Amino acid sequence: MAEVILSHIYKRYQGNVVAVTDFNLDIADKEFIVLVGPSGCGKSTTLRMIAGLEEISDGELTIDGKKMNDVAPKDRDIAMVFQNYALYPHMSVYQNMAFGLKLRHFPKPEIDKRVREAAQILDIAHLLDRKPKALSGGQRQRVALGRAIVREPKAFLMDEPLSNLDAKLRVQMRSEISKLHKRLQTTFIYVTHDQTEAMTMGDRIVVMKDGFIQQVATPQEIYSHP
Ligand code: ADP
Ligand code: ADP
Repeated sequence: MAEVILSHIYKRYQGNVVAVTDFNLDIADKEFIVLVGPSGCGKSTTLRMIAGLEEISDGELTIDGKKMNDVAPKDRDIAMVFQNYALYPHMSVYQNMAFGLKLRHFPKPEIDKRVREAAQILDIAHLLDRKPKALSGGQRQRVALGRAIVREPKAFLMDEPLSNLDAKLRVQMRSEISKLHKRLQTTFIYVTHDQTEAMTMGDRIVVMKDGFIQQVATPQEIYSHP
């Protein structure tokens, strides 16, 4: 379960850049939230603050009622998937997916079970022995998702995960990520600059501009009152 609450969150970078201003949002458990808006509007900064990769300048972040501002990323029980996949090139798909669990000293049989289950779900079970360089873009993105899934985190954070894929694959992966969300029944927080992606995937869409929230609405509400 993961209810994520951002309360009066600000981010100030060096040099007087205010990247995020008074960001307020209650993300429900199991919700699929999409942050959308043009480049530079503060989406990625917001996501990175939730992940703990960026310090919060002001305001409060809680996950399931627990204040998270000063909790280390590895102790937040959330997983992040990046645009550039960030796979280890010298490791096989299996090793890439197992690595995070190995670091956390999970027993080998448990690691094996989780890697195989995730590989089944993502349809990459036949690729476990390959190195990333021998995979297509879509397959690499699945491995990146797999590496997050095996940790069974409370929430998945995704930063433009599809923007390196070609148009056709983007459409396909969109619906696969939606299916994954239904199957895992976990909170997803997804960043994109692509409005179609936002409208087709989000339970609610947070439209950002210049570091502010401009609108929070369901896709239906946006269709009927654009
Ligand atoms: P988005 O993800 O919507 O493209 P970002 O969160 O990356 O937006 O950036 C928001 C603003 O913060 C931009 O003006 C950007 O230039 C600035 N910014 C991002 N990272 C840094 C940083 N490390 N130092 C200073 N300014 C930054
Ligand atoms: P090591 O602990 O020597 O670094 P690896 O990280 O290569 O081992 O693998 C961890 C475990 O996962 C080993 O028991 C290995 O046999 C198993 N393993 C690795 N790749 C696969 C695969 N494609 N299919 C099944 N088991 C695998």
